[in-house]
Amino acid sequence: MITALAGGVGAARFLTGLTQLIKQEDLTVIVNTGDDIDLFGLHISPDIDIVTYTLASIINDEKGWGIKDDTFNCLNMLKLFSEVDWFNLGDRDFATSILRTNMLKNGATLSQISAKVSRDLGLKLKILPMTDDKFATYVQIPGDSIHFEEYMVKRAAKDPVLDVKFVGAETAKPAEGVIDAIMDSDRVIICPSNPIVSIGTILSIQGVRDALRKTRAKKVAVSPIVAGAPIKGPADKLLNGLGVEVSAFGVAKLYVDFLDGFVIDSMDAAEKSRIEGLGVKVAVVNTLMKDLASKVALAKIVLDL
Ligand code: GDP
Repeated sequence: MITALAGGVGAARFLTGLTQLIKQEDLTVIVNTGDDIDLFGLHISPDIDIVTYTLASIINDEKGWGIKDDTFNCLNMLKLFSEVDWFNLGDRDFATSILRTNMLKNGATLSQISAKVSRDLGLKLKILPMTDDKFATYVQIPGDSIHFEEYMVKRAAKDPVLDVKFVGAETAKPAEGVIDAIMDSDRVIICPSNPIVSIGTILSIQGVRDALRKTRAKKVAVSPIVAGAPIKGPADKLLNGLGVEVSAFGVAKLYVDFLDGFVIDSMDAAEKSRIEGLGVKVAVVNTLMKDLASKVALAKIVLDL
């Protein structure tokens, strides 16, 4: 059994490689729901959808989100009515959120819905939301506190970050199966995802960090920081805002209380001894996931470390 902690695009790309090496039935992915947002009267779960669509091979690869060859008629009509005009959702993507919202209204949990969607799309792995409870990531920027999607999409992550708040973290319980997956696995992989708003959210859920410290599983992370910077996204702004060094070392320190192994990029080879100084085993390889071969090669390193 292998369990992976995941955000969106970086994680999904990594998992594409991993699922070439292990059976889907042996994999549980615990996904961040801090980006979840209610818009257009619908509950949208960006990271769960990205992971699901990617592994079901229907993702729009260029964007990293949404369904390939999707159309945007529904969104364009909504724009005509001056509904929210900053969030993009394709027509087929709308269908997933309509189903999710409807099922939630009828009493289903996010876990049950994610299981149905992934099963109906032909997947055999378990995709678990980190929690079935309300949880939202808010970013404190100068003069305002805004939802992470608003920061990321509407404001294009331009503002400096002063702080990050996980609204609901004090009461949100791990979704059923989350703690068991961590405890019963041989290996827990922390995907190359944003360490604050994707992995940090999962770690903030009651009992998750404790389970990671206690499990007999080997815990291995892949650095999302390459050559001292994120490949895409605002990880540097968020780390800076929280006073964390923007480097592979800075990320390793965030996970140090439970981490056994850390895979860093060859461009960050100079960080190796500093990270080993934290008591973590380090592999230095190419971590850029450009094509299937590089995704599989990276997954193999993570399985072998
Ligand atoms: P989201 O997709 O925007 O929700 O973001 P994720 O939480 O998945 O994380 C994005 C992070 O993944 C960024 O910090 C990127 O640097 C990292 N990332 C994306 N692609 C790669 C890659 O090919 N290799 C490595 N090492 N990290 C990557």
